[in-house]
Amino acid sequence: MTTININTLVRKNILALQPYISFRDNNKFDSPVLLDANENPFGKYNRYPDSTQKKLKEKLSQIKNIQPSQIAVGNGSDELIDLIIKVFCEPQKDSILMMNPSFAMYGFYASINENKVIKLNLNENFDINKDDFLKITADNSLKIFFLCSPNNPTGNCIQDIEFFIKNFNGIVVVDEAYIEFSDEKSSVELIERYPNLIVLQTFSKAWGKAGARVGIACSSEEIIRLINLVKAPYNVNSMSQEMILNCLDNPNEFDKNLENIFKERTWLNSKFEDVNCIKKVFPTDANFFLIEFEDVEKVYENLVENEILTSKRAPSIPNCIRINIGNQEENQKLINILKNI
Ligand SMILES: *Cc1c(COP(=O)(O)O)cnc(C)c1O
Repeated sequence: MTTININTLVRKNILALQPYISFRDNNKFDSPVLLDANENPFGKYNRYPDSTQKKLKEKLSQIKNIQPSQIAVGNGSDELIDLIIKVFCEPQKDSILMMNPSFAMYGFYASINENKVIKLNLNENFDINKDDFLKITADNSLKIFFLCSPNNPTGNCIQDIEFFIKNFNGIVVVDEAYIEFSDEKSSVELIERYPNLIVLQTFSKAWGKAGARVGIACSSEEIIRLINLVKAPYNVNSMSQEMILNCLDNPNEFDKNLENIFKERTWLNSKFEDVNCIKKVFPTDANFFLIEFEDVEKVYENLVENEILTSKRAPSIPNCIRINIGNQEENQKLINILKNI
């Protein structure tokens, strides 16, 4: 591995950017009179949110065992994907690498930024073939590799993630949106060793707070500084910051919900065995199943007619539908309908 100087990967205009500093959030006073931001002095939520998300980062830093300066907080991890591309990818020049199939938003934000999207096809186990990876990464216009593990929509974890971090001459973003549902270790512990690594996590899935729109990036202090430099100063609203702090202070609720989802996952897996229209259930480390059907169109239409919305992945993943784990009542309904097809 060649050692990577992060600055050589950053877009020139971003390196030269003057940070927007909110004096409000960077002063030494305990309770100053706030006449600086043209707010209304009356009511609740009348103030702009903390642009540095200080309390949230402090709490998260204890949980993740890293420094607050190694965490960026985004308006969902979606925003962080967009910001990371903006920091590193020169429009019309650089490309991103993503797995295929994987999460479509990497390509979406890359296209908006006018970056080419190169796709690395996964093997029959939906894992990465290392030779294919080495061949495709010989192209040095690749700036960012989005590695999603557990992967959406396939549900499996990618093996030997460290190999891909070591052998990529750019930024590797490991998207861990579903890590809480898996037995695999988080890659957050690798950020000490690999300055080109960014790990994304979200409160939208296992934490059950998709409506709050909060995601985090964990990385080197250097990269986090750059992400914070390009974010909108007040990107995460006060209510969401409070809500997530509350969640983190009440881990029992999180544990209970997670256990419930595991229970439902096991239950569904056993029930799928008696469903005739199912050809194959792919192993999952997430809160959804990728399922191959004999007649995918018929199954999908039938589910829609019964007012069950699922995510059809065919034809890009032939004959497959991605189905989320619901609550017991919803899962029961799903099984009943599938059994009658
Ligand atoms: C759901 C999901 C996310 C979460 O995005 P948010 O913007 O945080 O809600 C991120 N990555 C993947 C792969 C996902 O499936």
